[in-house]
Amino acid sequence: MDATAQILQHYESIRAEQEDFYKDLHQNPELSHQELRTAANVTRDMSSYGFQTQSGIGGTGVAAVLQNGHGPTVLLRADMDALPVQERTGAGYASTVTAEDQGGDRVPVMHACGHDVHVACLLGASRLLADHRDLWRGTLVALFQPAEETGDGARGMLADAFLERIPAPDVALAQHVLPGVAGHVATRHGPVLSSADSIRITVHGRGGHGSTPQNTVDPVVLAAMIVIRLQTVISREIPPTEPAVLTVGSLHAGTKSNIIPDSAVMELNLRTYTDATRQRILDSVRRIVQSECTASGSPKEPEFEIFDRFPLTVNDDASTTRVAAAFSAYFGDRAGSLELQTASEDFSDIPRAGNIPYTYWGIGGTDPETYRAAVRAHRVQEDIPANHSPMFLPVLQPTLQTGTEALVTAALAWLGRESQEAAAP
Ligand code: ZN
Ligand code: ZN
Repeated sequence: MDATAQILQHYESIRAEQEDFYKDLHQNPELSHQELRTAANVTRDMSSYGFQTQSGIGGTGVAAVLQNGHGPTVLLRADMDALPVQERTGAGYASTVTAEDQGGDRVPVMHACGHDVHVACLLGASRLLADHRDLWRGTLVALFQPAEETGDGARGMLADAFLERIPAPDVALAQHVLPGVAGHVATRHGPVLSSADSIRITVHGRGGHGSTPQNTVDPVVLAAMIVIRLQTVISREIPPTEPAVLTVGSLHAGTKSNIIPDSAVMELNLRTYTDATRQRILDSVRRIVQSECTASGSPKEPEFEIFDRFPLTVNDDASTTRVAAAFSAYFGDRAGSLELQTASEDFSDIPRAGNIPYTYWGIGGTDPETYRAAVRAHRVQEDIPANHSPMFLPVLQPTLQTGTEALVTAALAWLGRESQEAAAP
């Protein structure tokens, strides 16, 4: 039996504790940057497993390190934050929590993206690896990251010298629970998640009475022209073979029918899969907005503010090959390939900053029969609640077990005795 199978045969020894932790976390979700209770519980448990823990990194981030002899260093990452969503899953452990968001509004809070699964799985994997140190060698770094949903949690940890606080990783690994057959894992080479940018644009006119447009520069007409013209960026400037999305999600101007306002504000969302396409579209947006402002006789330069930025996630080839091989060996035909996702993640900010190869995979969280029935009926989009839905609720098992097994299996592809013997000359 190899090290992976030897360690994972002990899953039953952690199952009850892991399920309890998960249900408690699901019932007590915390918004981005507010993950105090979660971080405290994680720090307590990781310390009890024998890890050296550091908390409060970049606000609420936790790093836990276990040094176990000479060998590679593997970083495993879980995100901890929840979303302002009112849970409607009907689960016995559903959240009824509310919290104050960054704008000061009281909002419902729910683990609608499954980050509670990620935390519980990383705790479980850490405990199994700590309990069976005789079966591997090297250094394990467990990273519990805050504020993934706002796109600035990883950046905040980096700004707080995260990489200087830990041994340099040879590889960084992360996973996400997604709609799909529970018990299955899925890897992908190359681009896996899009980059995302939100852009707030303010254009200026000259306000006045609605009855005397000749004395004004109307920012409503100007904004309308920009919205239409922006539709040509993807359709006319980007190759049809290159996936990209540009959405104007918000447009605000004026207060009353007979007043021409002074300005208009629009918010755009951009998704791309290469840095070159991202830059090309950002340049086009700027060019179009500036040109339309000139065309309208706008009295003042437009203002651009980029926010909620997420980096591109591009899986490293060698690391992905190594994880995919380990998954095939352990999971057999429960290991498959992941489709390109239009969602975004800030995980890659950390490996990119440290020049660390990384790979990011998916695990299914849907009851297998329910999922297969939806596939047969071509009703996956309609019938299977996706991440961020108030109905999103991964089935408890085999989701937790599979996420735990995936982390242990992937980590041992570097830390396991066999892997190190295979890598030796
Ligand atoms: Zn999410
Ligand atoms: Zn997520």
